[in-house]
Amino acid sequence: MSGYFNDLFSGTKSLAVGMGITLKYFFEPVVTLQYPHETLKMTPRFRGHIDLVKDEETGESKCIVCGMCQKACPSGCITVEGEKKEGAKKKTLSSYTLDFTKCSLCGLCVENCKPEAITFSKDYNLAGPSREAYVFDLVKRMKERCSP
Ligand code: SF4
Ligand code: SF4
Repeated sequence: MSGYFNDLFSGTKSLAVGMGITLKYFFEPVVTLQYPHETLKMTPRFRGHIDLVKDEETGESKCIVCGMCQKACPSGCITVEGEKKEGAKKKTLSSYTLDFTKCSLCGLCVENCKPEAITFSKDYNLAGPSREAYVFDLVKRMKERCSP
């Protein structure tokens, strides 16, 4: 008989403890997000793939087509191409391709870009059906990002 009451007591006690924990978390702020409708805000030091930085004055990329990022990249994931328009003194950026499948996020490209024309994006939720989905046209991405 005493075993029955002991079981009853310990069952009620563990139920009360469990309900206490549930109630405690019920009134605490929610830390989960309704992904994909809500996404996390990345910390300032988070490194996503690189992105081109837009020159606010011209609306174009800040890239001067020096090729230093391409040379600095140990994985060979950057291809920069420029063109010299008629009458122009300097080249302008015509294409900037990043093969993100090879990128180790080492940061050497960003460090070696003197005009600060590339930066790390905050993209963390990338998904794609093939490797090609991770070969980015960064000029296109910059324009899409900046369009209203
Ligand atoms: S180092 Fe900077 S300025 Fe030079 S090509 Fe790369 S992104 Fe453009
Ligand atoms: S972060 Fe490193 S590996 Fe990635 S593109 Fe830049 S230099 Fe190449």
